[in-house]
Amino acid sequence: MISIDHKNQLGKFEKAIKQAKNRYCWKCGGKLELLDLLLQFTMNEKTIKKFYILWESKYIQFYCCACFEEIESEELLINKPVFKEVLF
Ligand SMILES: [Zn+2]
Repeated sequence: MISIDHKNQLGKFEKAIKQAKNRYCWKCGGKLELLDLLLQFTMNEKTIKKFYILWESKYIQFYCCACFEEIESEELLINKPVFKEVLF
């Protein structure tokens, strides 16, 4: 659920968000929407600016939510036995 406050914060960046560069998921190539990503997290103005800089950076790649969740669960599966070996 998105708060009115958060919507107002994003409203200040409306122009920048519209002009943001097109981004595609690094894994599946699906188009990413900056606004969709920003709406998922509660951010203050400073965090939104930082996120925007990352979005515009040519050195950073993003995953879409589906790919990210997939990778996260794969990593958990891979790392689990290692943790067990280390811990027990
Ligand atoms: Zn993807």
